[in-house]
Amino acid sequence: MKEYQHILLAVDFSEHGDYVAEKAKSLAYKYQSKLSIIHVLDNIPMPDTSYGTVIDLNQDSDYELLEAEKIQLKALGKKMGVGTDQQCLVWGLPKQEIITFANEQQADLIVLGSHGRHGLALLLGSTVNAVLHHAMCDVMAVRLPTL
Ligand code: AMP
Repeated sequence: MKEYQHILLAVDFSEHGDYVAEKAKSLAYKYQSKLSIIHVLDNIPMPDTSYGTVIDLNQDSDYELLEAEKIQLKALGKKMGVGTDQQCLVWGLPKQEIITFANEQQADLIVLGSHGRHGLALLLGSTVNAVLHHAMCDVMAVRLPTL
């Protein structure tokens, strides 16, 4: 069986996120793969500055909301043993940025959470559904308890 060489964990810092992260970590351990983490900023306004859409984790900004997201991502990275060079913080549409980053980094497995929505809720734009349909690599949807 082909082993995964680069696993990408997509995190939204919602409830049960740790459960998804643990799955990704144990898969990375099992396959001895590189592990990256992406968090897409779609819940805070983008400040009107010269920042690009990709955030430099090692450079301080004076935008409090952004600093809070950076702290969360860095803390997760530390907990998982993933360095800042393999952490991605970017503004945009989660489904689009996850797929773009996975392609750029040649990830061969994307791990995300799935609330198991169905019917209209699913049609109305779930990230996991879009990634499952459009990713070029394998996708693991970790089933989470329904909210
Ligand atoms: P959703 O389909 O929106 O309920 O999200 C399902 C999963 O997609 C989450 O458990 C995360 O793994 C991932 N995800 C959702 N939003 C984001 C985001 N803003 N950044 C990174 N991953 C995300």
